[in-house]
Amino acid sequence: MNSTESNPKTSLPQNWQDELEAILNPGTLRKRDYPMKKLTTLRIGGPADFYVEPSSLEELKKIRDFCKEKQIPAFLLGRGSNLLVRDGGIRGVVYSLKHPSFTQIELIGNHILIQAGAGASMRSISMFAQANGLGGLEFMEGIPGSLGGGLRMNAGAYKSSLFDVLESVKFLSDDNQIQELPAKEIEHGYRSCPFFRDHLALSAVFRVYSEEPEKILEKMHELREKRLVAQTQSPSAGCAFKNPEGASAGQIIDSLGMKGLAVNGAQISDKHANFLINRNNATAKDVLTLIQTIRDRVYAERGIKLETEVMIVGEDLEMENRKINVTVFAGGISSERSVSLASGKMVVEALRSKGYEVNVVDPDPAKGWTLPEKTDVVFLALHGTYGEDGQVQTELDRLGVSYTGCGAEASRIGFDKLLTRQRCEAAGIRMPRALVLDQPLEKMPEGWKPPVVLKPIREGSSVGLQLVDKEEDFAPALKAVLKFGGRVIMEERIFGRELAAGVLDGKPLPLVEICPKSGVYDYTSKYTKGCTEYICPAVVEETIKSQAQQMALQTFNAIGGKDYARVDILLDKEGRCWVLEINTLPGMCETSLLPKAAAAAGISYPELCSMMVQLALKK
Ligand SMILES: Cc1cc2nc3c(=O)[nH]c(=O)nc-3n(C[C@H](O)[C@H](O)[C@H](O)COP(=O)(O)OP(=O)(O)OC[C@H]3O[C@@H](n4cnc5c(N)ncnc54)[C@H](O)[C@@H]3O)c2cc1C
Repeated sequence: MNSTESNPKTSLPQNWQDELEAILNPGTLRKRDYPMKKLTTLRIGGPADFYVEPSSLEELKKIRDFCKEKQIPAFLLGRGSNLLVRDGGIRGVVYSLKHPSFTQIELIGNHILIQAGAGASMRSISMFAQANGLGGLEFMEGIPGSLGGGLRMNAGAYKSSLFDVLESVKFLSDDNQIQELPAKEIEHGYRSCPFFRDHLALSAVFRVYSEEPEKILEKMHELREKRLVAQTQSPSAGCAFKNPEGASAGQIIDSLGMKGLAVNGAQISDKHANFLINRNNATAKDVLTLIQTIRDRVYAERGIKLETEVMIVGEDLEMENRKINVTVFAGGISSERSVSLASGKMVVEALRSKGYEVNVVDPDPAKGWTLPEKTDVVFLALHGTYGEDGQVQTELDRLGVSYTGCGAEASRIGFDKLLTRQRCEAAGIRMPRALVLDQPLEKMPEGWKPPVVLKPIREGSSVGLQLVDKEEDFAPALKAVLKFGGRVIMEERIFGRELAAGVLDGKPLPLVEICPKSGVYDYTSKYTKGCTEYICPAVVEETIKSQAQQMALQTFNAIGGKDYARVDILLDKEGRCWVLEINTLPGMCETSLLPKAAAAAGISYPELCSMMVQLALKK
């Protein structure tokens, strides 16, 4: 029943999910189109058609019988710590023994044996043994899988493996009969037990010995320390390759100088060359390419054919073979509506020129909106309230639809100048001194004098911005800015050159210098053709360039940014950069800065839009 180690394209009977849903008990957790990346330690994998956690043995048998009868593929998931699930996900049912009915751990046989359910984590079994003064299972503590997954893999560490400490195993045969066998009668080898390819482990009994709990704990600490030194904490699936006879796969890869090698977001760990990590939104395709690169190189230079330890399951993404449906959100309800419509128009043209199927939605939360059928991804060409502040992102998250740009939380933080400031200050990023004001004042607060800048806390594109150069201008300026929603941030005005630092796919773009003819880069200068001169790439010293780009990346990371954003920076006369704010949905029209920066990096406007779509699809 553990299908899908190959990559079949599966066609399934109609309405099977409704039929399965109808026979399940309420206690059984079930989710349709559930992203496997949420269930694997690598944090990679497309959706499972139907994910289910049966609430009892009867329920488990029912699901397996259903799948057998209807010929629906069924994949048994442990804790997903040895899996690479392809980007197209898993067709059919994915089921897991995470329900408490399958995770019980207890003492049996006069307290000298431990019996554990196959859904229990190896860590919890090891901890249970320690708490009861029973030794021999310390090596299991750091292996992040379930007992069932451990049995299938004959998991082990530090010269011990599961079958060394097992007495017997209870399992379900292919026709759902419960059986039990002494462990020594089950064929097993190094990191594999083929028996459990066709049999579902239900529980196992462990042989243990009496030992002082403190001594066991000491041993566990020792092993944990060793792991911490040797292994990375980044998302991974443990060792990617089995050790070839008499050698270490990690040492071979390391000896070829391949540590750190990356394919997009997938990378060979710097710490342990046999760990492939998901460094930054990697896809299964990225990891598979990395695996192939390693295997080819090891074979070419050492004559060794490396075998994967990580199990590769699921289907490839079909996207490459069909048109991707993009729905562009443009317009919206904010004060930047007209700019958004202009951005949207250009984005639509660009995406169509790249072969995407494109629809447009002008979302109004008060009236409600519907997503065109078959939308694969939403391109957010919105600005300001509702578009850029995390609201529309939250709704799209709820619908489970991919969208361009930062996630809901990062958008919420990025749109709020105060929250951004708090994150940036915590990350040690230099910003102008500031004070929050929430009511009209006749005089400037104690310790403040002009020149200052007053901005609404939650508006984009310099909307509402006021410059105060004279004490007497302060009170009316504050009153004007307060009209934009209550709270105002007052910042010391820094004089200098204005730089825009774009971030795309987690990397900095060339800087753009903004030279507004009026001297101030306000709403008019931003969106009126000819009012501002742009120099791209900005002509600045190399040290300044890297300072500004570094600060942009830090700001992006401080708010938890994803895929792209633009950070506005001021460069003062002493050569110091100051972060002013971050734009999580930067403008995408003709005069916009991010497209200019991308062009300077050799990325045309249509390519940039296409990249944004592709990055969104990876999420
Ligand atoms: C940071 C890290 C460190 C690791 N360190 C080690 C280590 O030291 N030693 C080691 O051996 N491994 C290690 N691993 C790999 C992994 O933890 C083990 O292979 C583990 O046994 C996988 O268990 P799982 O429950 O996650 O199984 P999954 O990855 O979910 O599944 C693996 C296979 O087991 C099958 N399976 C799951 N449950 C059952 C069941 N009840 N009956 C039959 N088949 C079942 C699945 O169908 C699948 O084929 C590590 C992984 C990570 C991420």
